[in-house]
Amino acid sequence: MFVTISTTGTAGSPATDLGYLLHKHPGKAQAFSTSYGTAHVFYPEARAERCTAALLLEIDPVALVRRGKGKGRGGAPDAALAQYVNDRPYAASSLLAVALGNVFSSALRGVCQTRPERAAAPLPLRVEVPALPARGGPDLVRQLFAPLGWTVTADPVPLDTAFPEWGDSRYVRLVLESQGLTLAEALRHLYVLLPVLDDAKHYWVSADEVDKLLRAGEGWLAGHPEQQLITSRYLSRRWSLTREAMDRLELVRLAEADDSAVEDIDNAVGAETEAEEKPTPLAVRRRDAILQALRDHGAGRVLDLGCGQGRLVQELLKDPRFTEIVGVDVSMRALAVAARRLKLDRMSERQAARVKLFQGSLAYTDSRLKGYDAAVLSEVIEHLDPPRLPALEYAVFGAARPATVLVTTPNVEYNVRWDSLPAGHVRHGDHRFEWTRAQFRTWAHTVAERHGYTVEFTPVGPDDPEVGPPTQMAVLTLSTTRTSTEKEARPA
Ligand code: SAH
Repeated sequence: MFVTISTTGTAGSPATDLGYLLHKHPGKAQAFSTSYGTAHVFYPEARAERCTAALLLEIDPVALVRRGKGKGRGGAPDAALAQYVNDRPYAASSLLAVALGNVFSSALRGVCQTRPERAAAPLPLRVEVPALPARGGPDLVRQLFAPLGWTVTADPVPLDTAFPEWGDSRYVRLVLESQGLTLAEALRHLYVLLPVLDDAKHYWVSADEVDKLLRAGEGWLAGHPEQQLITSRYLSRRWSLTREAMDRLELVRLAEADDSAVEDIDNAVGAETEAEEKPTPLAVRRRDAILQALRDHGAGRVLDLGCGQGRLVQELLKDPRFTEIVGVDVSMRALAVAARRLKLDRMSERQAARVKLFQGSLAYTDSRLKGYDAAVLSEVIEHLDPPRLPALEYAVFGAARPATVLVTTPNVEYNVRWDSLPAGHVRHGDHRFEWTRAQFRTWAHTVAERHGYTVEFTPVGPDDPEVGPPTQMAVLTLSTTRTSTEKEARPA
C-alpha cells in the first residue's frame, strides 16, 4: 500500500524543498520499522520542477495477527482466515494513516526549522493513493475531500479488468490536487480521512483518540459538512467518544465562527471588571481566595459550577494538585470562550485529560457532578431567580454532595464604596439580587443545616469596618452524618 505526494517548483522555490518539509532527504531511501511492518520513504522523482515523495508500507500480516491488531476486517465464519489473508498489505488503510503520522510527524504539525516560510505557505500538491478502500464509494470520497479545497478524482477500481462484468471493487484510485493548501493541512486531511474511508480501525480506539482527532482536525474539521460522519467513523462508532468529540467541535466552531462577537464579550467583561473592581482587581483576589481555600481543604477533583469564561479553570490547571477540573455552565457562549481561552483543542493530551467543560444547568440534578472533592460557585447564585435557588441548592448540596463547597457572592452593603455605581444599583445587569452579609449568612446556615454541612465565612477584598468586604465567601464542609431533615429538603 502506498501514497505519493508531489509538488512542482519554480526558480526561487525548487520542488525538492519537499524534502525539507517532510524532513526526509530526496536523495535517500529510508526505512522505518513500525509494529505492523516497515514503512519506506523514497522519491521516485526529485527535480527542481517536480518532486514526488512516496510512502510505502510493507505490512507483515503475521505480525499484525500476533499483535492482535488484524481484527479490523472480516467476520465469522472465515474470520480466522481473514486475519491472515486480507487487503491490509495492499490497500491504503488506517495503517497507512498511522505510518503517515509516525514517519511525517513534524510535517503533520507544520514544523520545519530550515524552511518555516515554505511550511506555512500553500503549495501546489498532488496526492495519489492507488488503492483506497472506500466505504461509501467515490461519492463519499468527493464529499469528504472537496469541501477542503481539493480537486478530487476518485475512480472505482474494477474487481478484475479481465472480467468487466464483475463490476467494481470497493476500492478507488484517488487523486487529489490543490494549489491552496499547506503540506501540513494535506497530511492532516489524509491522516484523518484515510481511516474514515477505510472504516475499519485495526486497533482499539481509546479515549485519547478524541484528542488525536481534534488535533489533526484543527482548522478544518469543525464545520465540515460531513463532520458527524467523520467523527463517528474515526472513533469506530463509539457513541460516547463521538458525542464528546462533537461537543468539543461545537465549541471550537462557535469560537471560530464569531471571533468579533467573542471579543465583544471579552471587552464587555473587561469594562465591567473595571467599573466593578477599582482600585483592586477583585476578580484576581477572588480567584486567589478560592484557590487557597481549595488547597487548604486538600481538594484534587474540582467542579467550577457556572465557570463562565474559564478564568478560574485556567488558574486551576496551573497547579498539578488539581488533578481533575470540570467547568460547567449553562451558556454555550461562555463555554466557547472558555474553550478558546484554554486552547482546549491544542492542549497536550496530559493536560487535556485533566480538564473538561460541559454545558449543564445547576437548576437540575446531574449525575455527572457526583463524587468530586470540591465545588466552586463563584459569583453564580445571584444570577438565578430567587425561586430557582432551592433547586440549585438541592442539585449541589443534596445530590452532587462534594466534600467542600465554596460560594462567593457580592456584598451589597459594600456598593456604597463604588464611586462609579449609582446608589441602589446592582453591580451587574444580570444580577437577580445582591445580599447583605446577614442575608448571605442566613442562607448559607440554612443550606448547611438542611444538607449536613458546616459553614465558615471569609471576606474577600478589603474588609471595610463599616460595610464589610466587597465579596463574601462561604466555605461549606460536609459533616460525616446527614441530618434528618435532609429528605425533606428536596424541592418539589
Ligand atoms: N464563575 C465565574 C462566572 C460568574 S458569571 C466567575 O466567577 O467569574 C455567572 C455564570 O453563571 C455565567 O457564566 C452564567 O452563564 C452561569 N449561570 C447562570 N445560571 C446558571 C445555571 N442555572 N446553571 C449553570 N450556570 C449558570
